[in-house]
Formats: sequence, structure tokens, C-alpha cells
Amino acid sequence: MPRYLLILPALLLSLLSVSQNVDDITLKDFRPISIYKTPVSKVDKAKYPVIDFHSHDDQKTDAEIDQWVKTMDETGIAKSIILTYTTGKSFDSIVDNYSRYKNRFEIWCGFDYTGYEQPGWPQRAVAELERCYKKGARGVGELGDKGLGELYSLPTPGYGMHIDDPRMKPLIKRCGELKMPISIHVAEDAWMYLPSDSTNDGLLNAATWKVDMNKDGILNHDQLVTTLENAVRDNPRTTFIACHLANCCSDLSMLAKLFDRYPNLYADIAARYGEIAPVPRYTKSFMEKYAGRLVYGTDMGPSKQMYRITFRILESSDEHFYEREQFYYHWPLYGLGLSDNMLKQLYSDNAKKILGR
Ligand SMILES: [Zn+2]
Repeated sequence: MPRYLLILPALLLSLLSVSQNVDDITLKDFRPISIYKTPVSKVDKAKYPVIDFHSHDDQKTDAEIDQWVKTMDETGIAKSIILTYTTGKSFDSIVDNYSRYKNRFEIWCGFDYTGYEQPGWPQRAVAELERCYKKGARGVGELGDKGLGELYSLPTPGYGMHIDDPRMKPLIKRCGELKMPISIHVAEDAWMYLPSDSTNDGLLNAATWKVDMNKDGILNHDQLVTTLENAVRDNPRTTFIACHLANCCSDLSMLAKLFDRYPNLYADIAARYGEIAPVPRYTKSFMEKYAGRLVYGTDMGPSKQMYRITFRILESSDEHFYEREQFYYHWPLYGLGLSDNMLKQLYSDNAKKILGR
């Protein structure tokens, strides 16, 4: 869509709002338009070919998948890793759905937690993992734990087991032997644990994704990151990818410590552009320092506009712009202006290293 069509409604709104009482404006309706006459970069296509390490199988029909591939061609996405959460027939049908584009997609499986409370479960789950491998799975994910050990997988989440649960060990070990990396989401970012009140810096998203710490047995942010650390440390031959910068966006030093300790750990930057773009200089120095450990990811659907926003944030040095519809934060964003070397590593070199196995 031409840019003016996007701006027009906002301009009309701003004209209408002249009569609005400033006390009646709510944060959720806040739609500022930057008035700075500073450079605006238009990045239609990524500077280098990209491997997207975090997408899902939202596109189901042949037509939808064809359209996605077309969008990938136009924006410079060479390959997308589809994290399915699933096993069994449902995994197989996703592999079949995407089989016309074997070079453009990798389909990763979940773990099968059926009967995980009964003896012998790890052996059965390993057998299903090996079956998925034969069907084409070359990695596992997205596992996920927001505190209750749900380790999400369809149709049966493994409630009560965290990634460092001893029962998980045979599965994680087998992943290492099969050279299947494990992509795992732990916790949520720190805003989601703070009160949703007038002091919350990321209020809108914090309210949407709020973690209810009153639930029985729920682990907090740092405890969850520790479960990941335990698993990474105890399984040095298995590669882990912490989704969304391990949800440490407000304190990247936590992730830095893990990178310093464990060479088998990587992180994707999926769906955290809104969180890192408000602090561009700190983020850039972190990313350049750990350039060999970060991979590009999206997790935000397959639209052209979405890919282009991510490239603008990573590649440009644009200042004070808003992408309110994409990120649901009121914060202005700043381009990170990453170096060419960093971009190459983030976009594909690290991914190739992981996928080259
Ligand atoms: Zn995801």
C-alpha cells in the first residue's frame, strides 16, 4: 500500500482531534506522527539473503503458501524455518503442505508429551522424535515455558516439566545426536511481570501479555532463564536457540552472561524489534559483540510490510519513527544501523552454521 494511504487516516484523525480535550486522550489511542525532518529509509529488500529462524505454519493452502514464497522473493528471504510445536499426523501434514518448496522451508517438530506422567514416556517420545526426523524434521521447536512447564506442544503440552526436568534429558540428548537444534521460548519480557499501572514503561503490551504470578507453582522470569541455562549447560552437544533474545530485552546482560558461558547457545531476535529499537546504541553494541550468536527471526506473520519494518530497524539509522500497529507500543523506534558484517552474520552466516550441522 502506498505510504500516503497509511498516513491519510492518521492525518484526518489528528485534524479531528483538535477539538479533543487532552485529558480525554488515552494511551491506547495515542497515535503520534513524527514531525522530525530526518532521513526516512525505504528498505524493500534485505541487504543480504536472509534465513528466517522463527516463523509458523499460518499459511495453509497452496495459494497462501505460493503468496508467501512470492513475498519472500520480493523481500529477500531465502528460507524460513517453520516452528510447528507438533508431532504425529499433524506434523506430517504440515511437511506435506510445504513439500513443493523443499529449498525454501525447513519444518521443525515438537515433542510428543502424550503420557508423560507414565513410566517409559521418554523412550516413546524419542521414538516419535526419530520418526519425525525421518519425515524431514531437522530441528525441534518452538518449545515454550511461561512458568508452568507447559513446554508447549500440540495436542498435549507437557505441563509441570521444565526444560531441565530429568525426564527431558533423553530427548535433548537424542536431539544432539541427530544434530537437531532446539528452539525454545522461556518466560516473557520483564514488563509483563510488573504491575500494569502508570509506572509500567511498556504498559500496553505488559497488560496484554501479563504473567499471572499467583498461579500455583509458577516460576518467575529469572527462574525460567535458569531452567534454560541448566539444560544448555548439561547438554553441551545439543544446540539451543533461545527465542526472542531469551526474553531478556530489558536486560541483555543476562543473555550476554549465558553466551559467555555456553558455546552451544544462540538466540533469535524474533518479535522483539519493538523492544530493542527504543535503545539502539546499547542494543547495537550488544549485537556486534555477540554477532556470532544471533539469528534473524520474525514470528509476526508473512506480510511484506512486516519484513520491511524489520530491515529498516536493523539496517537504517533512522530516528524517532513509529510502527504502532505492528508493535503495540507507544515508543518511538530508532534504526540500529548494524554493520555489513553484523548483518551478514545475523541474516544467514550463523543460520548456515547451525543448519550446516
Ligand atoms: Zn513463535
